[in-house]
Amino acid sequence: MRRYSIFAVAREGLRFHQGWGRAWAAPEPKKKYEVVVVGAGGHGLATAYYLGRNFGIRNVAIIDKGWLGGGNTGRNTTVIRSNYLQDPSAAIYEKSRALYETLSQDLNYNIMFSPRGLLMLAQTEHEARGYKRTVHANALQGIETQWIEPARVKELVPIMNIAGPRYPVLGALYQPRGGTARHDAVAWGYARACSDMGMDIIQNCEVTGVRTQGGRVHGVDTSRGAIDCDKLAMVVAGNASVLADMAGFRLPIESLSLQALVSEPIKPAINVVVMANTVHGYMSQSDKGELVIGGGTDGFNNYTQRGSWNHIEETIRALIETFPIISRLKLMRQWGGIVDMTGDRSPILSTTPVEGIFVNCGWGTGGFKSIPGSGWAMAELVAKGTPGPLAAEFGLNRFREGRFIDESVAAGVAH
Ligand SMILES: Cc1cc2nc3c(=O)[nH]c(=O)nc-3n(C[C@H](O)[C@H](O)[C@H](O)COP(=O)(O)OP(=O)(O)OC[C@H]3O[C@@H](n4cnc5c(N)ncnc54)[C@H](O)[C@@H]3O)c2cc1C
Repeated sequence: MRRYSIFAVAREGLRFHQGWGRAWAAPEPKKKYEVVVVGAGGHGLATAYYLGRNFGIRNVAIIDKGWLGGGNTGRNTTVIRSNYLQDPSAAIYEKSRALYETLSQDLNYNIMFSPRGLLMLAQTEHEARGYKRTVHANALQGIETQWIEPARVKELVPIMNIAGPRYPVLGALYQPRGGTARHDAVAWGYARACSDMGMDIIQNCEVTGVRTQGGRVHGVDTSRGAIDCDKLAMVVAGNASVLADMAGFRLPIESLSLQALVSEPIKPAINVVVMANTVHGYMSQSDKGELVIGGGTDGFNNYTQRGSWNHIEETIRALIETFPIISRLKLMRQWGGIVDMTGDRSPILSTTPVEGIFVNCGWGTGGFKSIPGSGWAMAELVAKGTPGPLAAEFGLNRFREGRFIDESVAAGVAH
């Protein structure tokens, strides 16, 4: 595949952009692969990419029932941070954030990583105490975060009303190298690199059954015929329990719709990401100028990928006291994605009761930021059959053994 470069852009500019090749191939499924990855979202594609790059396993198919990146990967609000409390979470999220720093160069694809800085507002005394504790934990984990006072918050975000009558801003947990990236580009960049390594990306191909024999996986049934495999990686986020059911085991996952919305584009107004967890809302500004606004999950389990009116009202009501300017904005779009929530709000990267099947799910409302790190750790798990240091604590057995990695504060609302 021809590399993208400034010279390629100049050359194509001179010949009316007629010479660009396809970014990835669209092959027919083969009869058998060494590894089948179900789910061409960011996590599935990153798993395949690091299988090829780190372990030389390239006889891989990535199968999706829709189009690649059309699940949560293309629906999220792109927040990237690693300011988690528990050591295993901090390790995998920071690995991921660090990989994001050079991902455009690694993939030869501009993923528009923008480490513009991220603030988590403390709007109650309890939250202030919690975030100060996180800053200390992050220092021990080697992650750069700071506690900042209200005056500094105001300096970073001049449009913010820090003296709100109900929820004044008492300070913030600040991660200077947190930020955003373009979510579609992350999926497209990994897809192009996988295709370049000879892997097959098979879109519009729904997995309808998992074939096992003697406790071992043999392949999958799909809407485009049966496909055999030696190993199967299930990386389907909100559909994880549906896939597990096909293979005959259960997962401690609840699926809910999480919604987001964007405003009309406006002039640059805010150049950091701000999360306000007490009131349930967060906001950043896209390169096009839209304010990207996110709220919480639906209060009931469901598989819809749609927005709903009450969420617009609840989310805007939550943020308006702190950001009065949004009262005058028109909203352009809203949507939903099916997120996969575990009880301790931490992910699952695990072997399963069926030999040869591996599962990666449970990233819930916060798995965009973890795509590179999760793919890195999952590839190691699939290649070696046992988890490496990044995935070791995230096995399914933790639910049986009561060894929870409680991130309900860091991940319950914030993304
Ligand atoms: C509104 C919203 C805002 C969010 N904001 C953030 C944020 O700011 N920061 C952050 O870090 N995270 C955020 N998240 C969470 C993040 O988007 C997800 O955790 C992450 O994208 C999950 O990626 P994935 O690859 O696991 O899943 P997906 O991208 O959902 O990919 C799974 C794929 O599996 C496919 N699939 C499902 N069933 C089958 C089947 N039977 N056969 C074949 N294919 C199948 C689907 O079509 C889908 O493409 C947000 C999520 C939403 C919905």
